[in-house]
Amino acid sequence: MAKVWFVGAGPGDPDLITVKGRNLIEKADAILFAGSLVSETAMRWARPGCEVMDSKGMDLEAIVAWLIEQAQEDSTVIRLQTGDPGLYGALIEMVQPLDEQGIDVGVVPGVSSAMASAAAGVESLTLPEVTQTVILTRVEGRTPMPEGESLPELAQHHCTLCLFLSITLLKKVQADLLAAGWSEDAPILVVHKASWPGEEKIIRGTLADIREKCRTEKINSQAMIIVSPTIGSRHWSEIKKSKLYDKSFSHRFRKAEG
Ligand code: SAH
Repeated sequence: MAKVWFVGAGPGDPDLITVKGRNLIEKADAILFAGSLVSETAMRWARPGCEVMDSKGMDLEAIVAWLIEQAQEDSTVIRLQTGDPGLYGALIEMVQPLDEQGIDVGVVPGVSSAMASAAAGVESLTLPEVTQTVILTRVEGRTPMPEGESLPELAQHHCTLCLFLSITLLKKVQADLLAAGWSEDAPILVVHKASWPGEEKIIRGTLADIREKCRTEKINSQAMIIVSPTIGSRHWSEIKKSKLYDKSFSHRFRKAEG
């Protein structure tokens, strides 16, 4: 029976796709990939004769029509998405019409650019007694934010914020975070094309100067903004250690000493 798979391609480096995603690409009969965002090298695993199409320039209707048409002919159809398909990936609006046609659907998760960006900077998104919470969000642009989810509201938690789709709105990010009580010298990490071989750029700055730094580096697309009280902790002289490896802390797999 035909099945349409929504596969997370990962953040850019073709090596960051999952084994499951890669195995599916190898057996796929048709692949529709998001051209501007998914590295074409992921397609090197497609078998000869696999129908490969770039969705750049296609609207939702055309994408859905293509997937349905391929599913009628083939057994394994892939929609290759950037990062994880469940984050800003228009997943549900593609799944619903397939459901209506009775076409079987599966999702393979992917490494999100939020994780790849933290990795690029050797940063931890959580740190004991600093923050234990991560918010994945965006700044309001053309897509309105639901009530209670504006950046000034979310930023009040002073936890880690990973801001997608917001690099052109840094002025608003600055203003919103200041309004929520963050200080001007709060550290910020911006990663452009995290994990893309030879293309990744890491910009470090503060709330006060990050916008200028990004402008100098001409970064205005495909960038993740991470604002967090944990940024730079690699160089702190003192950190609270995790209980997980603490000598005096027992858990399921290890008894405490003494
Ligand atoms: N599903 C994707 C997000 C898609 S929305 C994921 O899980 O990563 C597109 C936004 O993701 C971009 O505006 C940017 O903020 C971020 N993004 C995608 N790939 C990126 C990368 N390689 N490096 C930094 N940010 C990236």
